[in-house]
Amino acid sequence: MYENGKLTSTYLQYLQDGGEMGVLTRSFNWSDTALGHPRTWSQSLLTTLSIVLKSRFPMFLWWGTELIQFYNDAYRPSMGKHGKHPKALGQMGSECWPEIWSEIKPMIDKVFSSGESTWDEDRLMPIYRNGQIEDVYWTFSYSQVKDETGEIGGVLVICHETTEKVMALQKEITNTKVAKANNENLYSNNEELIKAQSLLAKAYYHVRAQEEKFRSIIEQAPVAIAIFRGPKFVIEVFNNKVLEFWDRTAEQVQNKPLFEALPEASDQGFEYLLSTVLTSGKTHIANELPVKLIRNGIIENTWINFVYEPIRDIAGLITGVMVICNEVTEQVNARKKIEENEMKFRQVTNMVIQMIWITDGDGINEYYNQRWYDFTGTDLKQLKGIGWNQLLHPDDQERELKTWNHSIKTGALYEIEFRLRSKSGKYIWVLGRAAPFYNSDGIIAKWFGTCTDINDQRMLMQQKDDFISVASHELKTPITALTASIQLLSRLKDNPLSDRFPVLIEQASKSLNKVNLLIKDLLNVTQFNNGQIHLNKTHVNLFNLIEDCCADIRLEGIYFIKTEGNLALTVYADALRIDQVIVNFIINAIKYAPESKKILITIENVNHTAKVSVTDKGQGIAADDLPHLFDRYFRVDETGSKYSGLGLGLYISGEIIRKHKGQIGATSELGKGSTFWFTLPID
Ligand code: ADP
Repeated sequence: MYENGKLTSTYLQYLQDGGEMGVLTRSFNWSDTALGHPRTWSQSLLTTLSIVLKSRFPMFLWWGTELIQFYNDAYRPSMGKHGKHPKALGQMGSECWPEIWSEIKPMIDKVFSSGESTWDEDRLMPIYRNGQIEDVYWTFSYSQVKDETGEIGGVLVICHETTEKVMALQKEITNTKVAKANNENLYSNNEELIKAQSLLAKAYYHVRAQEEKFRSIIEQAPVAIAIFRGPKFVIEVFNNKVLEFWDRTAEQVQNKPLFEALPEASDQGFEYLLSTVLTSGKTHIANELPVKLIRNGIIENTWINFVYEPIRDIAGLITGVMVICNEVTEQVNARKKIEENEMKFRQVTNMVIQMIWITDGDGINEYYNQRWYDFTGTDLKQLKGIGWNQLLHPDDQERELKTWNHSIKTGALYEIEFRLRSKSGKYIWVLGRAAPFYNSDGIIAKWFGTCTDINDQRMLMQQKDDFISVASHELKTPITALTASIQLLSRLKDNPLSDRFPVLIEQASKSLNKVNLLIKDLLNVTQFNNGQIHLNKTHVNLFNLIEDCCADIRLEGIYFIKTEGNLALTVYADALRIDQVIVNFIINAIKYAPESKKILITIENVNHTAKVSVTDKGQGIAADDLPHLFDRYFRVDETGSKYSGLGLGLYISGEIIRKHKGQIGATSELGKGSTFWFTLPID
């Protein structure tokens, strides 16, 4: 089986199949060549040859120092009809290709010496075939085949004749008619070739027509289209739209690498996107991507929507990228402007303290500002479900709806006061106003409305009304008593010694006192409001001051008032005003805690301030009312049915203490009693 380490009887296994060239190779008298009988051939030659013969791709092999030739059926047509085949089989390279040997040999030598493979595309290698020298174009690769010894045994050529393709391209470039005439001359004597030529021409025209159709589609396309070839993205095809977008002329971009023609577009991320499409073959779609371009000599910010589509050749290889793009700068700018305006509008509307709302012409709400949501604690979703009328106080809903419907119907200005439910559930008085906005057809397109919080004003008005009624009532009682006393006295004027005289005079002076006190309170309020109160400060011992205040009350013998604590503490204050505060605390303790007969007064030095507290064991004050005790006109029993008073005593006390830079307050527990206190700076 083996002779000198070479395969003998099985060599035929390697030369099986291969069609015509298989038959010729097996029957060839190899012994007469430098390679000798196939029995003596190296394993690598046999293996390579078996690949060549079995392959359907055109292959050619040179083996040994003489470069003895083999080739397969697929390669066979490139030999032409007359001339080289079948002589080329087993022939030495130099003998077979004298006409191009000077070109081929250096390539073979290079493969032998460096081991590097070659790659040539559409290379012109005119060869002698069909009885003449023909221009033949090849795309081919030369690669070395190693021997068992590790030496280079031969050169394998994998090639593909591209003459047809190149000719078609050339014909397109040169004048078609001239090329056609040349062809006619060239092939006029050969019927088969004429047929082939006509087929080729048909195919060519077909391709050309398709291509022209393609180009015209691109040119007429309403969007910018361009085709970039190769890794440098050479601009091969482009339409006017894309030139307009780039602000370049055809000459400036034709066959130029993209980023050379548009250098300002580089380093904006497009290189990466294009390369990714080229390598991955995946389409890339982008929306509103910003790109900076030089237009009219200045850098402009533009926005584009585009698609990068990979372009493949017949073999499926990606050779370029087609870009279809639509400039959307105007739309983006317009949208940005709208967004900006909207933002400004929102900012302004959210900054004002009013609630702002907008409805369509039919009164359906479209917008509320943030203040509305903050105030009502609702969100747009909730408001969509219900009419906003439902946020109004039930007693105001019907009245408001009537006014609103009237405005919608007639276009009359809408203006109404109603109570709106706030986040906390409390109803707050607001003033609702709205004006219609008419479109160019004279139809109401929108209503712009506001709601202004007028609760404080409303409450103040209410308080004033209440106060006037309370004040007149309070004044009326002692004045009625006074009038009665005086009427009786006048009846007794002729009998001044009557027993009732002193009693009536006592009653009259008491009533007058009451009137005096009420008027004093009223005057005090006016004076404090107008800042007309001036303090007459002296050094005052608090204990002595308190004792003076209590003297009259103690005389009555009903109440037990005890003063304790730091009895030596003195303050620099207006004695009359502080007296007024202490008297007010004590009178309140008597008035509002009649069942508690013990009143405790303490004097303390707390953090360098003098603190005076008056404590009773009366009914106490509810926690909700505590914060309002020192408000003007505040009375726990609003009806005034139980106790008389204007709700001014504590307010005036507060003003006096604040004027002294002190603090005032109250602590209380319902049913257990209250402590009213104030502090004064010691120095
Ligand atoms: P007025 O001048 O009408 O007496 P004040 O301003 O002195 O009113 O007091 C306000 C309200 O505080 C009173 O209506 C009363 O309900 C409550 N109040 C004041 N002192 C006491 C107290 N010692 N115990 C319970 N309630 C009090």
